[in-house]
Amino acid sequence: MAIESDSSELQPIALGEPRQQRSLQARVTWGERVVTIGGGAPVRVQSMTNTDTVDVIGTAIQVKELAIAGSELVRITVNTPEAAMAVPHIREQLDRMGIDVPLIGDFHYNGHTLLSQYPDCAAALSKYRINPGNVGKGDKRDRQFGMMIEAALKHDKAVRIGVNWGSLDQELLARLMDQNHARAQPWEARQVMYEALIQSALDSAAYAVELGMKPSQIIPSCKVSGVQDLIAVYQALRQRCDYPLHLGLTEAGMGTKGTVASAAALAVLLQQGIGDTIRVSLTPQPGESRTQEVLIANEILQALGLRTFVPSVTACPGCGRTTSTTFQELAKQIDDFLRAQMPVWRARYPGVEAMKVAVMGCIVNGPGESKHADIGISLPGTGEAPAAPVFIDGEKALTLRGEGIAGEFQALVEQYIERRFGAAATAPQA
Ligand code: SF4
Repeated sequence: MAIESDSSELQPIALGEPRQQRSLQARVTWGERVVTIGGGAPVRVQSMTNTDTVDVIGTAIQVKELAIAGSELVRITVNTPEAAMAVPHIREQLDRMGIDVPLIGDFHYNGHTLLSQYPDCAAALSKYRINPGNVGKGDKRDRQFGMMIEAALKHDKAVRIGVNWGSLDQELLARLMDQNHARAQPWEARQVMYEALIQSALDSAAYAVELGMKPSQIIPSCKVSGVQDLIAVYQALRQRCDYPLHLGLTEAGMGTKGTVASAAALAVLLQQGIGDTIRVSLTPQPGESRTQEVLIANEILQALGLRTFVPSVTACPGCGRTTSTTFQELAKQIDDFLRAQMPVWRARYPGVEAMKVAVMGCIVNGPGESKHADIGISLPGTGEAPAAPVFIDGEKALTLRGEGIAGEFQALVEQYIERRFGAAATAPQA
């Protein structure tokens, strides 16, 4: 029996879009370059080098690669006096190469000494990452933490209070465990750990404010490696403060596992408006470029509709209706082509990053999906006539045939971009 809904009674389904949550806004600067974090700014992408910081040229080159891939902030390890001495030279190399991405210094154990004894390092960095679990024990803790905040105030830098469950403040955790034992109904150990992560970040942030830091220049993070744990911790953290938040799944792992775990955790939180800057902590596969973590961060933000970095290629997965690999090859060729052109196109064709291209395998969904794209092609499936209709702005524009379909479609994409995003299209009308 056919059932018809009475649409006059229906309420419209809420649009699918991330929630907006307002936080304070941090400003991380280098020269003229200002990267705002939180407070309505786009969610920022950051990354971290894995070179030895003492290797000035190697580190500067990797920072440059990460910046060109789209990293808006790059963190470098500052673990020894030699590394601290290298930092101003890395900065100098980057400035000489025209790379103005702000650098973040990652400090553990000896940050107080390095920042006070190497003022050129403190000045060349734009933000300091302080791990409250690694600043010292007992009465040294506050003094050493205070020395790092003093350096941030003196050089006018932002700080990340970066808590990590792998290096959680053990004194705090022990205290919370003791308090928990005294409860009539003790919490689960994981819940105590969540609380310890958050208290470590917020107590340290409050102490930094007491020492004179502006709350807006403090960016907490509470990283764990479990997806559900991260979601629980950040939801609570967001409720308990309005600092801009750095978000990331720590030690996400390699390849598909690391990518999927990061995407799963970050997507849930970003959809709720939680997270003002993100890092994907991916372990590179042997031979894999460090920039992979930036590309994945970009893809997560683009998939959620929070940012656009590169034109998207919609391609079907293929099935028994398409037994040739033509459409897979064409989808990859177009995707590679668009990505390779972006460093130049970004300036030449403003807005091109929002373009949608479809490459589809057969007539079932090919024409429909292609019509939804700015430009799309529906390749012939097995048994279909050897013709590939091309759709431009939702209308069938022409049909390609023969061996040269890939090259001809790429040329059509280029013509479309020139026409829609080129100087002639964007020039003011007389
Ligand atoms: S569009 Fe055609 S080839 Fe592609 S998945 Fe759907 S049915 Fe299969």
